[in-house]
Amino acid sequence: MTAPRASERFTGSFTQQEPIPEDAIEAAVAVMRSGRLHRYNTEGAEIGEVPALEREFAAYTGAKYALAVASGGYAMGAALRAVGVRPGDKVLTNAFTLAPVPGAIAGVGAVPVFVGVTEALTIDLADLEAKADQARVLMLSHMRGHLADMDRLMEICDAAGITVIEDCAHTMGAAWRGRKSGRDGLIGCYSVQTYKHLNAGEGGFLITDDDEVMARAILLSGSYMLYGRHGTVPPEEAFARIKYATPNVSGRMDNLRAAILRPQLARLEAQCAAWSARYREVEAGLRGTPGLTVIERPEEESFVGSSIQFLLLDWPAPQVDEVLARCAARGVQLKWFGGAEPAGYTSRYDSWHYAPSAPMPASDRVLRGIIDMRLPLTFTLDDCAMIARIIRAEVGAVWQTGARVTG
Ligand SMILES: *Cc1c(COP(=O)(O)O)cnc(C)c1O
Repeated sequence: MTAPRASERFTGSFTQQEPIPEDAIEAAVAVMRSGRLHRYNTEGAEIGEVPALEREFAAYTGAKYALAVASGGYAMGAALRAVGVRPGDKVLTNAFTLAPVPGAIAGVGAVPVFVGVTEALTIDLADLEAKADQARVLMLSHMRGHLADMDRLMEICDAAGITVIEDCAHTMGAAWRGRKSGRDGLIGCYSVQTYKHLNAGEGGFLITDDDEVMARAILLSGSYMLYGRHGTVPPEEAFARIKYATPNVSGRMDNLRAAILRPQLARLEAQCAAWSARYREVEAGLRGTPGLTVIERPEEESFVGSSIQFLLLDWPAPQVDEVLARCAARGVQLKWFGGAEPAGYTSRYDSWHYAPSAPMPASDRVLRGIIDMRLPLTFTLDDCAMIARIIRAEVGAVWQTGARVTG
């Protein structure tokens, strides 16, 4: 056991990712030198950076088709359109997720129906089953990388005739019983925004095995009639059926982003392992802290620990605020997802007033207790151990002064 060091202060930055690798920078410079940044600006049989990336991402996930797009939010919106969600339709989604998820649903004029969250931070499958007759599509968000029991979830959705779209913004590289996240649903959506597992600043992917869904998604993304130049292309019949009926809602990826993503994708597995080592270090340091609940990860889940969550269950708000302030004073930036006023970004269903919701007391209790912390790869394992010591000491100090809710 390391003795607590009260004076310890962490000086790293929670928003500092690693630099873009040198080979990716060189590839980006080559694209800029060529002047041909647009994905369809190719000659003859030449394969541009975007279609090459699409092939590589499809191969990585095992999907038949991959489409590279402008953002994760764009991928989700295109997925909803591609499965035929119309204005006014209801779409099931997580009560605990990030604003772009209900935003994508609202963006196509549809209405989110929120499904509760468990203490494991996954979608509440009993609540999903109870609400299964309310919509024909589930936009399933693997928020903060926590995978629900995907076998049970697919059973519920298959039985109810619900189409599943997966938001894999935090699960690129994760798997449930060896099945890559994004492969259980009809469509998987990913983000390559700076804080996700690949960093292009902005960008996203949509994957599927379905010919017609991919044909629609490609046309939607703004392919004009150049869809034949994609990295993974459904048969011509799939386009023939829909090509005059599908609107162009531009959201393409450009060659510059694809150029910096390809070398990163080649290293993704090693990066995921590095994240998980950091996660396990913090988790081990937090385990057994009085008043703090560690999230137990199921054996079936291989997760990517790019962030870590723990619960301060049933703590009064002033004491949670105090923990955050004390940790911040020692350089540890925690985010309280359950704060009454959303700060920075919003992650709870009752912050989204454009989407009506009934209160969910059991979920509210969990949401009020969720504390979140990013784990950028610029942190060393020693950094992670120190961060855990600081949180442990400050949670302990506040707990001792009586954070327990009485009655
Ligand atoms: C980042 C994120 C998205 C969307 O990604 P963008 O690329 O920023 O549009 C979707 N879902 C979750 C849970 C996210 O964190």
